[in-house]
Amino acid sequence: QRHVNHATPEAVEAVIDTGHFHPEAILWQRLDAYRAAGGYRLLADCRAGRVSVEALMKALEAANLRGLGGAGFPTFKKWGFVRAEPGPRYCAINADEGEPGTFKDRHYLEREPHRVLEGALVSAWAVEAEALYIYLRDEYPGLHRVLHAAIAELETAGLAEPGYIVLRRGAGAYICGEESAMIESLEGKPGKPRHRPPFVAQRGLFDRPTLVNNVETVYWVPRIWEEGAEGIAAQGRHGRKGLRSFSVSGRVNRPGVHLAPAGITLNELVEEYCGGVPNGHRLAAYLPGGASGGILPASKADLPLDFDTLQAEGCFIGSAAIIVLSDRDDLRDVATNLLAFFADESCGQCTPCRVGTEKMLTLLERDTWKAADLERLSRVMMDASICGLGQAAPNPVLGLLRDFRDALAAQNVIVKG
Ligand code: SF4
Repeated sequence: QRHVNHATPEAVEAVIDTGHFHPEAILWQRLDAYRAAGGYRLLADCRAGRVSVEALMKALEAANLRGLGGAGFPTFKKWGFVRAEPGPRYCAINADEGEPGTFKDRHYLEREPHRVLEGALVSAWAVEAEALYIYLRDEYPGLHRVLHAAIAELETAGLAEPGYIVLRRGAGAYICGEESAMIESLEGKPGKPRHRPPFVAQRGLFDRPTLVNNVETVYWVPRIWEEGAEGIAAQGRHGRKGLRSFSVSGRVNRPGVHLAPAGITLNELVEEYCGGVPNGHRLAAYLPGGASGGILPASKADLPLDFDTLQAEGCFIGSAAIIVLSDRDDLRDVATNLLAFFADESCGQCTPCRVGTEKMLTLLERDTWKAADLERLSRVMMDASICGLGQAAPNPVLGLLRDFRDALAAQNVIVKG
């Protein structure tokens, strides 16, 4: 079922036939409809000096807006870091939504591309960017056409200088969701993460200070201003602030993107938003942050799903891709599958990740697992890999060794050694 947030039904037109990969028409909110509902007012106020950068940054801080691509870094601080660097500066929007189980950026771009574009243009204005780049994953060909058309609308309306917004396609590499690899790719080079420091806020695109924000992060910028930071912050649960867009898949009756209070627990999310688990299934485990966020047992489904709580459990929420597993799922297969993914997507630049993911996959494919071997290899990968891919790749395995050791030992999967 398709719906559009903040748009009346007549404000929506089916205009894009997305062809072979995505045969459904995408119903997106056109520029006229978005403007009629108050869209681009914030951008106009920013450009006219009626809204200051400082006031906007204060609002983002009060709403607790953090990087929703996965890192969770406070957005207002990131803006501040880039602004403190000498110009010229750039802005790049990361639309390379590759984390398995994550589809919230697509959800917002398909419905409200202009709200994302307004947030992106306001972010670019905030750092006085010379150009605004959007890096879109190539697996979203329909969205490429939507964005292409939406940007053309903006240029025709005089809201963006022709050529100021540059839409670039990725080429299917998961690692290009990592910001420095994305920048390498934008520069026309292989997408390999850079060593840091310097951070991309200091030396990013074309060696200039660059603000990199995720699609959903900038989507929230106009909404926070329009709806009020306090009102949005007050919607959190269990002491947390704000709202989160959870991409929920797996063993639930209503998968999809669910906008729910930050800090909601898995049990609450599944029962209140996802219609529970299907008949005949019992919740067994869940991945709180896609492939890289680790795995937790059903006994920990009452933990608030937020950045800080999950870190204490050796997991992270990342882009809030929740994959629900039941007693019918084989956790050994799940971990093996995830490691095969990481081994496939490793950029190969550093040995702990390139060799480590392959080696771990080999260990997992054996009839029995030696916990000590897996733990030693995990430590090397976490300590010595250059970027988050290699550092996070052992998370699912470590989660099983931590929370499911007895069950796997009873099945003779884990043996001493
Ligand atoms: Fe590449 Fe993996 Fe090293 Fe990251 S950790 S730089 S993906 S080889």
